[in-house]
Amino acid sequence: MDVKAFLSTRTRVIKPSPTLAITAKAKALKKAGIDVLSFGAGEPDFDTPDTIKDAAIAAIREGFTKYTDVAGIPELRQAICARLARDHGLAYSESEILVSCGGKHALFNLMAAVLNPGDEVIIPAPYWVSYPDQVLLFGATPVFITADERSGFKIRADQLDAAITPKTKLFIMNSPSNPTGAAYSKDELTQIARVLERHDILCVSDEIYDAIVYDGFVQTSIASISPKMKERTIVVNGVSKSYSMTGWRMGYAAGPQPIISTMAMIQGQATSNITSITQKACIEALAGPQDFMTEWVAKFQERRNTIVRLLNDIPDVSCAIPQGAFYVFPRIDAYLGKKTADGITLASDDDLSAYLLDDAKIAVVSGSGFGLPGYLRLSYATSMAVIVEGVARLASALAMLKS
Ligand code: PMP
Ligand code: GLU
Repeated sequence: MDVKAFLSTRTRVIKPSPTLAITAKAKALKKAGIDVLSFGAGEPDFDTPDTIKDAAIAAIREGFTKYTDVAGIPELRQAICARLARDHGLAYSESEILVSCGGKHALFNLMAAVLNPGDEVIIPAPYWVSYPDQVLLFGATPVFITADERSGFKIRADQLDAAITPKTKLFIMNSPSNPTGAAYSKDELTQIARVLERHDILCVSDEIYDAIVYDGFVQTSIASISPKMKERTIVVNGVSKSYSMTGWRMGYAAGPQPIISTMAMIQGQATSNITSITQKACIEALAGPQDFMTEWVAKFQERRNTIVRLLNDIPDVSCAIPQGAFYVFPRIDAYLGKKTADGITLASDDDLSAYLLDDAKIAVVSGSGFGLPGYLRLSYATSMAVIVEGVARLASALAMLKS
């Protein structure tokens, strides 16, 4: 029997996450004893703070190990409301919050709750890899608007306006951005908001990197721009990046109650509540001391400065300075079409990233995976030693290519 024939048509329109794929490949090579330097996964290298771990251990000891409310325990949802009020001046009640298994799951629940086949979802490119595939999974159509290096990887309001059709249901905002680290100022967000306010379109604002910004950048949530924006925006955030808790799996959505309760209903039929123990740890993360974060952001900023300088020192590579997150997105298209020492032509950035993994033993993700060919994404959530050695490997691997 051909079991493959049983797979749903829905599964044929999506592909594996390229960021998770490269990370798995780098891990497998490392396990096989190969000295791979990974710039793949967007995952902070810091340990989860002890205070947070202790809260989880206490939860286990106290027997807090049973099902909870699907949407998350009230104390956690209150801690999320307090954080949104403190950081963004946004007032939500508990019933407007859903706790899910990571920001990814929060986004998935949202797509499931609002998208019908034929709907259009506007996504600024370059984009985080999972947005288009989640949209496709629900039969909707991703519509891309592109912002390259020349526009600071930020779309303009007139580009958004031009992309809106009667079929547009949702716009995806992600600032600071994965993969570019570009972050929108309050003025830029206001211009985008003015377009959205004129239409009946929902906006999802993925703010998972909101705590990781540099050089005094002031982070703003698009939901806070006006009451009209708040009523059409679903804010998505989580603890993976800002608290170095990727493995704990907690993300959340905040937004209009009818949408949040529908997302909760979907979650109630799929996964129920997230791990009870994680919920207790997340209360400590969100409501407890935050002092470690200043130190982490300072470290990220130092690494950012170093990696940007080293990349710009490589001939024909240009790298913009990101304002947030922990990614750089250097332009490398001058090297495409060149040949390796073995005579293989590197026609695309996918070929180049495969060559870099095989020959230079560095794991990077191609720009194509994020919807903008001719670039590479490097996560600098890794040690300074890996950054220095890894970029040196990149430079010599590129220098070996022949026209
Ligand atoms: N949004 C963006 C832009 C991301 O980079 C990530 C990282 N995977 C996520 C959402 C989801 O992260 P998580 O599911 O770990 O909360
Ligand atoms: N968001 C991270 C990244 O872009 C983690 C991997 C993933 O979930 O895509 O690398």
